[in-house]
Amino acid sequence: MNVAVVSIGDELLGGRILDTNAAFLSSEVSSLGGRTAMRMTVGDCREAIVSALQQCVHRTDVVLVTGGLGPTPDDLTRYAAADLSDRGRLVDDVAAMEDVRAWCAAAGLPTTEAREAVAKRPPSASFMSNDRGTAPGIALTVDGSRIYMLPGPQTEMQSMWRRHVRPDLCVMTRLRTPPTEVIAAGLTEVEAADRLGDLLDRERRPRLGIRVGRGLVRVSVEDPAGDLDQDAMEAAACDVRARLAPWSFDSGLRSLPEVLGRCLVQRGWVLATAESCTGGGVGAAVTSQSGSSGWYAGGWVTYTNEMKRDQLGVPASLLSRSGPGAVSAEVVRAMAEGALGRSGADLAVAVSGIAGPDGGSEAKPVGTVWIGLACEGAVDARLIRPPGDRGLVRRATVDAALQWARWRAADIDAPLQWEVPS
Ligand code: AMP
Ligand code: MG
Repeated sequence: MNVAVVSIGDELLGGRILDTNAAFLSSEVSSLGGRTAMRMTVGDCREAIVSALQQCVHRTDVVLVTGGLGPTPDDLTRYAAADLSDRGRLVDDVAAMEDVRAWCAAAGLPTTEAREAVAKRPPSASFMSNDRGTAPGIALTVDGSRIYMLPGPQTEMQSMWRRHVRPDLCVMTRLRTPPTEVIAAGLTEVEAADRLGDLLDRERRPRLGIRVGRGLVRVSVEDPAGDLDQDAMEAAACDVRARLAPWSFDSGLRSLPEVLGRCLVQRGWVLATAESCTGGGVGAAVTSQSGSSGWYAGGWVTYTNEMKRDQLGVPASLLSRSGPGAVSAEVVRAMAEGALGRSGADLAVAVSGIAGPDGGSEAKPVGTVWIGLACEGAVDARLIRPPGDRGLVRRATVDAALQWARWRAADIDAPLQWEVPS
């Protein structure tokens, strides 16, 4: 299967945004055993889009287009589609028009001509529903090539890809089973590869691929030849999950906050947080999960010594010059105990560290982070030293706090990423 990826938008040509959609689509295509044969970036110009699509249709079986489906005058992709397939003609899609009107009514906005434009499609094309936004995608066939037009915004595009396009392409490539993915958090790529060992042999089927990003390791399990059945694919995914345990997530779970939430619900526990250097990042990550009110009591952001003392009851002696200081095992323990006692939660995590670039010393260099955890009458502290700049240190701290809480709720004992052995 030869694929073309076409990205549409002046903002891409002007370098104002990075074309992450094309990278995503190409990587998905290769996981299906397909090949991205060409990529094009085109500005918001109807003729230019038509000409680009004509070139792609000549050379590839499938054309994946993103961008330009919205309601504004610079969104011209649907008009270019109509030029290609129906001599410029567009018709109202009855169901989509109803959706647009219902959406406007629910949002208390008037139904304008511009808003209605997203419900128009070439008569020979079909719509793909958009569960994250208002503009449906457009699918059409031109000269034997299949063209899929997806919205530009990443979440809308990815969801439409998963729900509509990917299943179609699985059929086209005759993959009996779509590739699956095992996700883990808290390991580097090399650590994950070491644990997977012989499973990574290139000759093995199904074949594994590793990629890392945003603190997660993703291992794809794919069978480009396409003749393994679901059971074989699932067995392979189970092997991967077992080798990456306890870092790996159960099937279907995609992020640390989601995994933590699941563990807490199973245990019937509620979490509280006390944060210094992450400034609420742990709380923000936790509350990104819908339903987190069922397992998250709340938290404190105590940045100064005074706040740590007054809000959480950290003894002043620990924070004074002669004490261990705000970034110490003693203080995160006291923060965690304070949060647990004051919230009535079952488990509390606390973080305090030096995110940099200033504030480091020989004894406590930038990246020194203490994490405390209080639960069931016990309180403990662990030291991590993540490398990188302020942003990376803070993100690694959030992840480590979530990871430790997750493991405590599941009675698992394992090292945190970047942990300094005591
Ligand atoms: P559009 O549908 O063309 O109006 O795009 C809406 C928004 O989606 C843009 O402002 C970008 O933020 C985003 N977007 C569009 N195309 C891409 C792309 N190729 N890669 C990443 N983001 C994109
Ligand atoms: Mg645009």
